[in-house]
Amino acid sequence: KAANLEEVAAIVANFEINGGFSDAVPFGSGHINDTYRITNSYAACPDYVLQRVNHEIFKNVPALIDNISYVTDHLRNKFSTLMGSANVGDRALTLIPAKSGQYYYQDAKGQYWRLYLFLPDTRSYDVVTTTQQALEGGKALGQFQNYLADLDVSKLSVVLPDFHNINFRLKQFAEAIQNNAAGRLDEVAAEVAFVRAREHGMGEIERLGDAGKLPLRVTHNDTKFNNILFDANDRAQCIIDLDTIMPGYMAFDFGDAVRTLINTAPEDEPDLDKIQLNIPVFKAFAQGFLGQTASYMSTTELRSLTLGITLLPFIMGLRFLTDYINGDTYYKTAFPAHNLQRARAQFNLVEKLEKAHHQLYAIVMHAAEVGMSHTHAKSN
Ligand code: ADP
Ligand code: MG
Ligand code: MG
Repeated sequence: KAANLEEVAAIVANFEINGGFSDAVPFGSGHINDTYRITNSYAACPDYVLQRVNHEIFKNVPALIDNISYVTDHLRNKFSTLMGSANVGDRALTLIPAKSGQYYYQDAKGQYWRLYLFLPDTRSYDVVTTTQQALEGGKALGQFQNYLADLDVSKLSVVLPDFHNINFRLKQFAEAIQNNAAGRLDEVAAEVAFVRAREHGMGEIERLGDAGKLPLRVTHNDTKFNNILFDANDRAQCIIDLDTIMPGYMAFDFGDAVRTLINTAPEDEPDLDKIQLNIPVFKAFAQGFLGQTASYMSTTELRSLTLGITLLPFIMGLRFLTDYINGDTYYKTAFPAHNLQRARAQFNLVEKLEKAHHQLYAIVMHAAEVGMSHTHAKSN
């Protein structure tokens, strides 16, 4: 299924590159797109990152690319005016135009390709190990939010409708139960009860949003920690993986980042005792994030961030459970009960986050106070 070297070279030939194609190597640990690093035959010319965009998941790739070019242009302007940064290309992804003038190339098979400038000497972390990384990552995601806060949200296309909408995920869950396609319903009675006990409470962010109490913002919607590129000095440099940029609530980006970084165990940990909360890492991330964003958030929006911390792992657990009931039709699984194991691990994390609610809330509010006082000190 992966394209061979000649195919990749032929694809790259449709883009406006400097220098020439030398080699292509499959690259990165992403699960959604096919990614290749393209090396240049001229040492003085840049390398590139070629990606085949998964158009089974993303139905409207041109609209997705428009979102990315709109957002990255804006970020580049901010980095150059606010930071006077000469190397703005290091701080925001740079799309390379195809010879057609568009920022994508569609091949004869109908597949979509895009090319970015390669960011050399960068790395990403699947697991957060130090509070310094968490602080840097929080700052970078907060700054991403901050710099995009003045964009017109209505200009963005909704590339995946209802992606983080709990009501939509509960509807899919109810359908799965109704169909019981894999005959697995009897096995998951405890997990179904877990969902039922929380389905109303988990709807709070959507209710606040519908009531006009939470602003729709430009959100990334896939703020896994490995979508933050760090430089050689371990400073956060650039936010990547921008496919899911669309209108959303701040709590989605905060909650999804916290879901992975606060958990001491992997997403599918079978030994539930190993799932613990890394509070120092969470605190550092919250400080970094809120230092950039607290000054322009209402108290309601600040409070919604703590709701997002439990909502995002709940949604992930719910999606894994739904897929398990459906017979594993969406997520790739390594063994038959993998989706059930993932759901149990996410729900166990939810329980531990619920128990720590007051502590997490206090940390968020404290980080917000510190963040606001910094902003005021700077502007005085
Ligand atoms: P996915 O949606 O599959 O996760 P990503 O856009 O995150 O795809 O890319 C996969 C990996 O490729 C990233 O985790 C990162 O390591 C690497 N990568 C992506 N874009 C760049 C870039 N411009 N420069 C350097 N590395 C990159
Ligand atoms: Mg990624
Ligand atoms: Mg992605």
